[in-house]
Amino acid sequence: MKVFVSVGHDVRRKGAKCEIINEYEYDLLIPLTQYLMEELVDMRIDAVKVYSDILGNAVEEVNKHCESDSIAIETHFNNFSDTSVGGCETLYCKGSSKGKELAGDIQNSLLANLQVKDRGLLERDNLAFLTKVTCVSIITEPFFLSNKKEVERFLENDREDNLRNIAYSIAIGVKDYVNKAEKEG
Ligand SMILES: [Zn+2]
Repeated sequence: MKVFVSVGHDVRRKGAKCEIINEYEYDLLIPLTQYLMEELVDMRIDAVKVYSDILGNAVEEVNKHCESDSIAIETHFNNFSDTSVGGCETLYCKGSSKGKELAGDIQNSLLANLQVKDRGLLERDNLAFLTKVTCVSIITEPFFLSNKKEVERFLENDREDNLRNIAYSIAIGVKDYVNKAEKEG
């Protein structure tokens, strides 16, 4: 089973700016996604990284190369005007039972390993990576760039270790899903 891993946003539209550390979401997602690739490869999962060099490019890349049983993960960090809001959520395409299952496996692993607040699974029908990718796809949002405590915990102290731990947690969730799918044949 092929697993596509997409870096959220692109080099010109970098997503949310974390005002606390003056860094953009995209620049923080590059190492996270690299670590996720390393974890998946370590787990002998057939993982492929895709970038959005231009808007919508990642969706096209996935659709060009995916098979019916492939899955696709896009990494993001959350952001909200109310800086007290924090926690972890995973998004899947409205109406997709497999998307919900994959999102649940990843969310459960993140919660078990990171002890972050559970914001649950969200079904969405207005995000291209969820609606336009033809295989099962999810978006992971492990914490908020607008939340001071979470930024301090994950990015200001031992950033590499923390991002690697998040990557490992996502990879374990993917592995759980892949194992179940392969058992079902
Ligand atoms: Zn984002």
